[in-house]
Amino acid sequence: MPNDNAPAQPFRSGALSDPRLPRPDFPAQEQPFPGLAAKMDPLPDHGEVSYRGTGRLTGKRALITGGDSGIGAAAAIAYAREGADVAINYLPDEQDDADSVVAAIEAEGRKAIAIPGDITDEDFCKSLIEQAVSGLGGLDVLVNNAGRQQFCHNLEDLTTESFDATMKTNIYAPFWITRAALPHLDSGASVIITSSVQAFSPSDILFDYAQTKAANVAFAQSLAKQLAPRGIRVNAVCPGPYWTALQISGGQPTEKAAIHGKSQPLGRPGQPVEIAPIYVLLASDEASYITGEYFGSVGGGGL
Ligand code: NAD
Ligand code: MG
Repeated sequence: MPNDNAPAQPFRSGALSDPRLPRPDFPAQEQPFPGLAAKMDPLPDHGEVSYRGTGRLTGKRALITGGDSGIGAAAAIAYAREGADVAINYLPDEQDDADSVVAAIEAEGRKAIAIPGDITDEDFCKSLIEQAVSGLGGLDVLVNNAGRQQFCHNLEDLTTESFDATMKTNIYAPFWITRAALPHLDSGASVIITSSVQAFSPSDILFDYAQTKAANVAFAQSLAKQLAPRGIRVNAVCPGPYWTALQISGGQPTEKAAIHGKSQPLGRPGQPVEIAPIYVLLASDEASYITGEYFGSVGGGGL
């Protein structure tokens, strides 16, 4: 059926007025964690229509955690358009978003493996790698992208359970998943971790989250040195404000989510598709001398 709302020009122009790059204020909205991108207003642009591939990842096999929505979904769609087969992990509640990403990958004629499960469970992390490797026939690219961000105004109100869940999701899981993946990664493989501008400019209300994102940078810098002799590269991506479900499912107070990105020089949050090129570059063989680095995409404010 023709989509009457489809813009005449499907690809982003990059112009300030491009409707695919909407500007705040956004409607006030809240969802329970982990949230669904498909229920957001405006809908995030994961590149479904707007990402063009040029075969830069032909034949590669990638696993992306948090690949159902937001930045991970944009990376997954871009990877498929660049010629990769892609496995995505997500929480069972996010099946609807995951189904859309799987459909987008398969529309490119690439293999899509959907692996729901909770990465705060060490045994699941091992099984995740086993399922990805058997489904894809190996592994060349690992993107540790899943994350938990729940704001809290006062340290006295931050429970041990919440602190622990943030640490498990953002620090332990990348360790467990990467350790399980290493026996399957050969020279030329790439490991990517999604950190944040919060690693360098922590918000008052993201005390636990900001610490994990600083740890993610150290993850890349340390592991890059350790794995260089094996020809495996490790890098971190540090997004600034991006329009994703993370922000409207407890990541920010509702009134702050509505103006997410407004204070940046570009005056808006990034759309997930706008950071996908960094993930593509870091996964590609073109990045053969890029390791132990972190890359920002913050909207003008810098890291
Ligand atoms: P998102 O909500 O779309 O993606 C996060 C994903 O993490 C979820 O889709 C979910 O599948 C996954 N996840 C969370 N807990 C999990 C668990 N226990 N088990 C399995 N999966 C789990 O939001 P996003 O903004 O695209 O987040 C992706 C990454 O980007 C995160 O690491 C986040 O910290 C980082 N980041 C986001 C922003 C932003 O403004 N959106 C800024 C800086 C960094
Ligand atoms: Mg999601």
